[in-house]
Amino acid sequence: MKALVSKLPSVGTTIFTVMTQLAEQHRAVNLSQGFPNFDPPAGLIDLVDKCLAGRHHQYAPMPGSVALRAAIAGKLKDMYGVTVDPGTDITVTSGATEAIFDAIQAVVRRGDEVIVFDPCYDSYEPSITLAGGKAVHLPLLLPDFTIDWDRFAASLNERTRLVIVNSPHNPSGALLDAADFDRIAELLRPYDCYLLSDEVYEHVVFDGARHSTVLAQRELAARSFAVFSFGKTYHATGWKLGYCVAPAALSAELRRVHQYVTFSSTTPLQQALAEYLVAHPEHHRELPAFYQERRDYFAALLEPTKFRALPAPGTYFQLADYSAISELPDVEFARWLTIEHGVATIPVSVFYERPPDVKLVRFCFAKENATLDAAARRLRAL
Ligand code: GLN
Repeated sequence: MKALVSKLPSVGTTIFTVMTQLAEQHRAVNLSQGFPNFDPPAGLIDLVDKCLAGRHHQYAPMPGSVALRAAIAGKLKDMYGVTVDPGTDITVTSGATEAIFDAIQAVVRRGDEVIVFDPCYDSYEPSITLAGGKAVHLPLLLPDFTIDWDRFAASLNERTRLVIVNSPHNPSGALLDAADFDRIAELLRPYDCYLLSDEVYEHVVFDGARHSTVLAQRELAARSFAVFSFGKTYHATGWKLGYCVAPAALSAELRRVHQYVTFSSTTPLQQALAEYLVAHPEHHRELPAFYQERRDYFAALLEPTKFRALPAPGTYFQLADYSAISELPDVEFARWLTIEHGVATIPVSVFYERPPDVKLVRFCFAKENATLDAAARRLRAL
């Protein structure tokens, strides 16, 4: 038998795993991979205990627990004034990652082009490649990571099947607003092209900004998959639960994929989240203030260091320029910082097809103050 030819020959281990392993190996403070080091709300854990003790052990319905989909629909109405049918428009998935994969497999065919904006989240391109499509990378404009509208317009063509946007944006924190979605709607109008809107950090927006969802742009919502993650909202990235909201016809296609990727996601957690979401809307309403305090705390810690913090309007990531510290390219700098100085970060160039000539690393500030303090003591010594 011939050796297996990889379908993803240029894919290695993800940078998140690489940096977390390096951090563990060198006992570094891990501000690389994005996950909180504090617990989900105690009331939610109690509900999970209750659901595990109860009778929630068999397969959930394929599109997700009825109670959870009803709770999600209620939240979308409350937060964004958007009405969706929980029976046909919402699908619960095993993390946003699965929703992204399913949506891409549902619409992208061999030879199709998919526009992504760099720096872009690392799961998009492999999912596009497996569907037989081709990722077309458009760089966001520095310094604020905004869309280059002329280039975007010029890149759309008959082969463009899907455009992927991410707001709040990982790793930059940049936000799209309602006017941006209006503009995207106008640009896509002449094409048979769908939109995938990755909104996993919907509740992590700062300085009084409100999250703009594609679901509120009615014309665009009719051709869009909007993707969300309970992992981000409830400090529970390891639960791997998310959902996709899309019009019935698009959701039906997404479910065709979903039912053979995972069929359904873990039942007791869905039940617990359904009850918690309804009983405690204050949790997600208070999340912007919760994370803004951490962002500000970390920014103050970076102040006396040689790192220059970039504006951070959303997500739990802080980009920082290290050009006053080192000439090293970012991947090497991140390794050096972890091994020699005990702080792990994510180099930003890995999210690019063609990295710009900048020296940036990403810090995750979803950490206890003591963890951020420990990192800052080491960063101040540089
Ligand atoms: N999304 C997280 C990050 O950006 C990591 C997710 C993962 O490790 N796959 O750090």
